[in-house]
Amino acid sequence: MDILPKADYAIFSDTGMEAAATYKYLDFLLTWQQSNGGIPIIVCRDKNLYEDLLRTAEDGHEVSIPAFTANEDGSIGMLRRQCTHKYKIQVTSDYIRDHIYNLPKGSRRPPTAVWMGITTDEMERMAFPSEAWRINTYPLLGYYTTHKGECNHINWGIPMSRQDVVRWLVLHDLPIPTKSACVFCPYKSDAAWAEQREFAPEDFAAAVNIDEAIRDSSHKGIKNPVFLHRSCTPLKEVGFDPRQSQAWGECSGNCHI
Ligand code: SF4
Repeated sequence: MDILPKADYAIFSDTGMEAAATYKYLDFLLTWQQSNGGIPIIVCRDKNLYEDLLRTAEDGHEVSIPAFTANEDGSIGMLRRQCTHKYKIQVTSDYIRDHIYNLPKGSRRPPTAVWMGITTDEMERMAFPSEAWRINTYPLLGYYTTHKGECNHINWGIPMSRQDVVRWLVLHDLPIPTKSACVFCPYKSDAAWAEQREFAPEDFAAAVNIDEAIRDSSHKGIKNPVFLHRSCTPLKEVGFDPRQSQAWGECSGNCHI
């Protein structure tokens, strides 16, 4: 069954409100891992983006997701994305320092291959790491990248498309996961929003909560109202176009994998 070397750890940084399907898949993986001697799975719940965004409205706590707002000239702009770094990359980096290497804060970590499961049909999401110790490793592309801007081939990698991965899972009688992301992530196509509203109404309700909580972001210096949907319409009022299947933006392979 093994087609890749076995990783030492799998780390899931839970931002607090992933799709119900993702938590269900996580439960499956935790059970599977225990009965099959799989890769140890670590779930980090150090920070909760969902709760922090709800708190933002009350106490002005600073956190920014790539939501939409109207510019002065009437065009639509996207806010700066701080969430991926703070709630995904930093959380896993801290865990690696504190619990894998047991190093004090401020120490330099040894070079470490951090695997990310992006596939050949989304190759443009490959990125260079921002920290020198990280080696961004893409087993399903067959490349790794370094802080120095190098992009090198790995001979044990197995380039696979998302469909290849799905086929492999089906052949091995394993369930197919949905992409992992916050339920309120603005990097979503209309088709994905429509599907969430229809098939995961509780996830959609949580997204509506965030949409309403971030509307007034004037404490961050954003004058115009902020929305999760690109139309700058309240999420619960949007008439989603199910033919629009292209996501608005992407996050360098740290979410939506
Ligand atoms: S899924 Fe979206 S909202 Fe959540 S951390 Fe990633 S970019 Fe931010």
